Amino acid sequence: MDNPYIVDGHCDSLIHFVNGERTLQNPAEGGHWDTQRARIAGVALQFMAAFIETKYKPSMAIWRGLQLIEGAHRFIADHSDQVFLVQEKLDLEHIPDPTRIGILLSVEGGEILGETSFMLDIIFKLGVRALGLTWNQRNALADGVGEEDTHSRLTKLGQEVILRMNKLGMLIDVSHLNEAGFWHVLELSKDPIVASHSCAKALCAHPRNLTDQQLRALARQNGVVGVNFYPRFLQETGQVTREDVVRHICHIAEVAGVETVGLGSDFDGISEVPEGLEHVADDSYLLDDLIKKGFSTREIEQIMGRNFMRVLSAVLK
Ligand SMILES: [Zn+2]
Repeated sequence: MDNPYIVDGHCDSLIHFVNGERTLQNPAEGGHWDTQRARIAGVALQFMAAFIETKYKPSMAIWRGLQLIEGAHRFIADHSDQVFLVQEKLDLEHIPDPTRIGILLSVEGGEILGETSFMLDIIFKLGVRALGLTWNQRNALADGVGEEDTHSRLTKLGQEVILRMNKLGMLIDVSHLNEAGFWHVLELSKDPIVASHSCAKALCAHPRNLTDQQLRALARQNGVVGVNFYPRFLQETGQVTREDVVRHICHIAEVAGVETVGLGSDFDGISEVPEGLEHVADDSYLLDDLIKKGFSTREIEQIMGRNFMRVLSAVLK
């Protein structure tokens, strides 16, 4: 089969661009993602996260978030022959574009809202189309997985934000959210949601991973999980290879259906990578791996990109 196009639900490359470390145009020492290698792999749409690092929280979180968003627009303007911003359902019709990679701007961490909901409308106007409610800590919306034992549901503001995101046409991302918050989001959201970069807890008991029950619930709401490539989420000990990513893909497909699986590499946000999946160009090897596992052409296309596209076309206006 021809190489299917890829949608990747999460990378942290933007930070490196904003910090002036890389242009994200060519392969660079230590870098996982750049437009050149993403195109080799067939990436048609890349979620780019404005990840607000802990050192900026809480007082500088809005400032840093806005700086990263501005950086994303600068990156897109500087490389307009190679990338374009995806904001509306209509933009999805241009994917896959023969020459340019679509960029979906997301924010990782509700701290960008401070303690107000109007900031959501502001970041929407700035082109942000996905929001991860938390990182690992607690914020004004909800608790992250680092606060798991509180069993807290969303705050009033968190609930308001979910409803407003549905109204605006923004994708809700529950990666990093605690489990009680996860269930609360599913109760409230009328739109499908994603866990943009998470793995299966049944295969690796890391707090960041999702239980089979959570995976099935995401499936019932037509959501998607982007399998994360971070070795510590894939296997508890030992050498981790691309085969482990495939194991998580197969497990999620088995318990929640093939229409629930996607890719969420976390490239440039992870300190280690699996052997054989060391940068974005290596994504293309997954094709043969999935063929060997017996997935059909249609199923492979769904896993590599079409499942994320389905959710986006249900959510974006
Ligand atoms: Zn993350």
